[in-house]
Amino acid sequence: MDKTISEILREAGFKFKKSLGQNFLTNSTILNSIGYDSKATKESVVLEIGAGAGSLTLMLSRIAKSVFSFEIDNSLKPVLDLVLKDTINVNLYYQDVLKLSDAEILDIVKDDFIVVANLPYYITTALIMRFIESPLPVKSLTLTMQKEVAQRLTAQHNTPEFGAITLAVQLFGTACITRIISRNNFRPVPNVDSAVVYIEKRQDPVVVKDMPQLHKLIRTGFAMRRKTLINNISATFNISKDTLAKGFSKLGIPEKIRGEAIPLDTYIILSDYLTDLKGCSNLNV
Ligand code: SAM
Repeated sequence: MDKTISEILREAGFKFKKSLGQNFLTNSTILNSIGYDSKATKESVVLEIGAGAGSLTLMLSRIAKSVFSFEIDNSLKPVLDLVLKDTINVNLYYQDVLKLSDAEILDIVKDDFIVVANLPYYITTALIMRFIESPLPVKSLTLTMQKEVAQRLTAQHNTPEFGAITLAVQLFGTACITRIISRNNFRPVPNVDSAVVYIEKRQDPVVVKDMPQLHKLIRTGFAMRRKTLINNISATFNISKDTLAKGFSKLGIPEKIRGEAIPLDTYIILSDYLTDLKGCSNLNV
């Protein structure tokens, strides 16, 4: 390409919209590294959230079979038409990706796919949960996001960063930070650094007797972080603390433990215990 993306944006008179999380990546070394992290190959179908000025889209088009990119901001069309003019495997949709149903997405993408995105900050969590929880055939997600959010998603239990969002992601996949990106690589420069998180979807879903209850239990575990887990469960599930103390002891879980101190496996064991407690009054002793 003759002109840089920054020049194209300037010549098009493009005004960045902070409200849409528009901080664009233009450093080609970093863009290539994100492509590497995504493990995309010539067989890969990629869904990109937020084409922006098309820098990530262009890189993805070179390494993948096809790219389906959704951009909410119509005013980027002249820029994207120019930046992507020589590509033959990019499909652009000027739509809010959060407003599309699973059926609509599948109708467009028609295949197993990977998600790659430099996420808009204002809806990072909603977008992650949209694609990780859905039954869509998503194989992995390679997502650039605020560094602090990335640290929460990939935290170990018993650390301050560990929270309901960490467990929500662990329910559906394994997440790791692949690299940190300095804020200076974005235009305009945001107030925070970013990190790339690679999430591989689980092949086999988590087995638990009552999935909605597990979600509720996880939320309960972090509802009041200074309270013990028994106190929080007792209030939310309306079960006496004595009953819970006996149950915890049988399961080998310390009575005074807090929600952030236990891993996903223990939440699953506890959720199944609560299910059994509801179904069999003998356990309630
Ligand atoms: N991929 C580009 C890059 O790396 O430079 C742009 C990334 S920028 C952080 C996020 C982009 O997502 C913006 O262009 C913004 O307009 C777009 N966006 C924001 N909300 C969106 C939504 N709900 N659906 C689709 N695109 C959205």
